[in-house]
Amino acid sequence: MSERLSERINNVTPSATLEMAAKARELRAAGKDIIGLSLGEPDFNTPDYIKEAAIQAVNEDYNSYTPVDGYVELKDAIITKFDRDNGLRYERSQIVVSTGAKQSLYNVAQVILNKGDEVILPCPYWVSYSDIVKLADGVPVEVPTSIDNDFKMTPEQLEAAISPKTKMLWYSSPCNPSGSIYSKEELRALADVLQKHPQIIVVSDEIYEHINYGVTAHASMAEFEDMYERTVTVNGVAKAFAMTGWRIGYIGAPSYIARACNKLQGQVTSGANCIAQRAVITALTESPSRISYMVDEFKVRRSLILGLLNGIDGFKCNSPEGAFYVYPDVTAYFGKTINGVTINNASDFAMYLLEHANVATVTGDAFGNGASIRISYAAAEKEIREAIKRIKNALAG
Ligand code: PMP
Ligand code: GLU
Repeated sequence: MSERLSERINNVTPSATLEMAAKARELRAAGKDIIGLSLGEPDFNTPDYIKEAAIQAVNEDYNSYTPVDGYVELKDAIITKFDRDNGLRYERSQIVVSTGAKQSLYNVAQVILNKGDEVILPCPYWVSYSDIVKLADGVPVEVPTSIDNDFKMTPEQLEAAISPKTKMLWYSSPCNPSGSIYSKEELRALADVLQKHPQIIVVSDEIYEHINYGVTAHASMAEFEDMYERTVTVNGVAKAFAMTGWRIGYIGAPSYIARACNKLQGQVTSGANCIAQRAVITALTESPSRISYMVDEFKVRRSLILGLLNGIDGFKCNSPEGAFYVYPDVTAYFGKTINGVTINNASDFAMYLLEHANVATVTGDAFGNGASIRISYAAAEKEIREAIKRIKNALAG
């Protein structure tokens, strides 16, 4: 029946992260004891002070449509947050609140790209970038990076990837899936290249901003005066505030882009959920120190999982500086046969771990880099220990 569907949807690859999570759920329902390290979702509950703000909003009868681009009070909280945490000055006309940072990204692609416009994606990139670009008739241009360069794109690579059709550069820092963070100096070096190409707009996805382990300070492309007018800063509350299901993301952008996103959203969602928006006013207004207990815990788990993975032959780990993923290179296993199963690539490897270790991870192919798999450590310490033990045993044959 797929011939009855649009080419647009037939050309979309399903989200590998969500697919793997669904597969793990299915296997669990069928009685298998699966440990899920596939989804980037904190195992914490939303903090009580944020939940209370939502309960209060329900009781105060916040039940009507909100302004399409978000409550004014939320926009003001976002403006204060950008100023406080990033030194970025925005006005209300530059802020758009959306149904998750995923929709923020989708909006930006839809309002900027014309058919055939190229978008530079340093690899590995977050799984949905390439399909969001394709859904807007754009062309993803993948720039491979290496674990030896901490999965970061160099200015020379950026320059080489630019063509007359390049319209945007998208990246996340801290990066999902590698955990790498571009320092201010590294961003400046990329900005210097972009200076020669004024048609390029930058999408800086900073959703993991607060999940930073203190090695490299967070920096935003829009901090540079000469980049401010051509940068869309994307952020959201899903990760650092343990609010994945509340579905609130936002952008700070040049007004003409924000206005366009607002127009699009007005025809698509009419705006984000009212109660979630009220809760996020509190989340963003309170000091980020109130959520640092989760970051401290992720830091402990990061050391734990790196130590355990380094004890398995053939895993070459990077040292993530932020987010909650490790992205080990597992090419040492390619071409090997274990328990009668031949592993030819990262997808085979992730499938082998699911079937023989009962551990769900995500293939690196989904992130535009097929040498690695992604393992999320947003899981309890006990689960991490058990998962890595199982992986080690399953790989021992
Ligand atoms: N950007 C990155 C880098 C992500 O990992 C995610 C994961 N959810 C998103 C955007 C989308 O976030 P949200 O849940 O707010 O849609
Ligand atoms: N961003 C998370 C991840 O990479 C959640 C899943 C998704 O939105 O794709 O696992």
